[in-house]
Amino acid sequence: MLNMTRRTIMNNSQNPENGLISGNRDFNLLRYFTLSSIAIILILTAILSTVLVVRQRNNMIDHSKRMVEEAAHQLNNHMVNNFTFSVIERNGEKSIDRQAIDYDRLDNVIKIFLNAYTDLIKVNVFDREGFTIYSTLKINEGTINNSEHFRSAVKNNVVSEFIKKTKDEHPGSMYQDKLYKLDLLEVYVPITVFEDREGHNIHRNETVIGVFKIYRDMGPIIHEVEIESFKISFMVFVFMVVLFIFLQIILRRANIIINKQNEEIDRNNTNLEEAHKRIKDVMSEVIQHESFHVRYSGNDLLKCWEFKNCKHTSCPSFDSSNLRCWQVSGTFCAGKVQGIFAKKYGDCCKCEVYKYAFKNKINNIGESFNNMMVLLQSKHAELNELNKQLNDMVNVDYLMQIGNRRFFHERVESIHQLALRYQHYYSVIVCDVDNFKKYNDTYGHQKGDYVLISVANLFKNVLRKTDEIFRWGGEEIIIILPEQALTDALKVAESLRAEVEKMAIAHKLNNPQVVTISCGVASYYPGKNKEIGWENVIKDADDALYRAKEGERNTVYSA
Ligand code: GH3
Ligand code: MG
Ligand code: MG
Repeated sequence: MLNMTRRTIMNNSQNPENGLISGNRDFNLLRYFTLSSIAIILILTAILSTVLVVRQRNNMIDHSKRMVEEAAHQLNNHMVNNFTFSVIERNGEKSIDRQAIDYDRLDNVIKIFLNAYTDLIKVNVFDREGFTIYSTLKINEGTINNSEHFRSAVKNNVVSEFIKKTKDEHPGSMYQDKLYKLDLLEVYVPITVFEDREGHNIHRNETVIGVFKIYRDMGPIIHEVEIESFKISFMVFVFMVVLFIFLQIILRRANIIINKQNEEIDRNNTNLEEAHKRIKDVMSEVIQHESFHVRYSGNDLLKCWEFKNCKHTSCPSFDSSNLRCWQVSGTFCAGKVQGIFAKKYGDCCKCEVYKYAFKNKINNIGESFNNMMVLLQSKHAELNELNKQLNDMVNVDYLMQIGNRRFFHERVESIHQLALRYQHYYSVIVCDVDNFKKYNDTYGHQKGDYVLISVANLFKNVLRKTDEIFRWGGEEIIIILPEQALTDALKVAESLRAEVEKMAIAHKLNNPQVVTISCGVASYYPGKNKEIGWENVIKDADDALYRAKEGERNTVYSA
């Protein structure tokens, strides 16, 4: 008996805890097969043997019947030809003339007949009425009690009965000193005569005048059949055993394959466990660092999630290590079905098709991971948007939608430090709306707000992207012009002043009677005293503005 490894056959249920496939159904294929096949062999042997033996027995009975029939035919000819029987006619029906039977002669004929056919052990002769007119046992057996047999025999159909009789003694027979084991075949055969009839044509007509009942001893034949049956059963059994051994060999082979597959499943489970653990680790890392820089080392599927620095500008992940280039995709690549494969995003990386390494379960995890990544990305984008909004709230002036004073301090400090380090220029322009108090008083605070928004929007449009605009306080705006020397800054300030005037927002208490601004400009330039901070630059610009206000307003003054 093969020592079978108890295997755990995986079912399709997934452990929700770790996503691994698990099962607990123990299955010993070979053991079940062996037991059931032994039972099947025994049952089949019995059935097959029975069928074959019954067939054999029936063939034997048929053969014996034909043999008895043939013998009876010869006996019939002999008796009729030797005038052992003579025929009389009564009421138009012909039958054996009992008065004319020469019994001694008949006895002689039948003895010779029985000697010639040693298997035939007894003969009875009945006339047409069914009365016994002769019996080898010299016992009057009376009439044929089964008239059906008689009619059947008369109609020239041989009727047989197979009667099993064991150790039957034959006291009255010529074999009376022997003990027979008899299996009797009783056969009824008609006794016929041929008559010549005259008419237009002369022909011979067969007429039944009585019936033989002939017994055949089937004992030796039955014995032969029994031996034959044993042989058949033995052969069937041997055949079954050979078949069983053959199937066992096949099954053992199948068992080895199943074991291998189970090992592979175990391996895959281990891989799944590892992958699951890695995904968990990485996800917690992602959550911890709010980062999507997921990098896996290792084999197969997880490679698909490596981030690639793509070289082509058309690639969505060009210049970005934040975009993953790969995703787990369908079952088709390069015109061929490949199982699950990694598909690149965009057109940036050489397509490496990964083999169907983890079968279905790992793909599920891959897909779940894929979905999780996509979800995380969208959450990340949402978070970015919220951060931006928060940033705006912290840094942007609500009314003018330009940087606020806090943000100005941050920026000016940074720009000043860069200018110091790299010996660069930068300039600042401080702008103030002329007679704005009067405007408010005349047109109302709301209209005053509108003026401030309009001026800020105008500045945003006129200035370059690199220039930075902030609300300094009240209706004052301060602009930083990185890399700009004083002369250029003056030109910028002048154009701003002119553009505001051009807007022609009515202000009847101002001169001219439209909204105007005054600007003070100051610059930082390389070589300036290192001790000077940005506060000094602002103060210079503010001083210049003050002077502008002291003058006719609607002007630009330089520090
Ligand atoms: P000057 O030409 O000398 O600058 O005269 P001015 O009236 O503009 O004087 P100042 O610059 O000192 O006036 C500041 C005024 O700006 C005071 C206040 O009424 C007005 N103001 C400050 N912030 C706002 C604001 O957010 N909305 C409106 N509508 N007005 C403001
Ligand atoms: Mg002011
Ligand atoms: Mg003012």
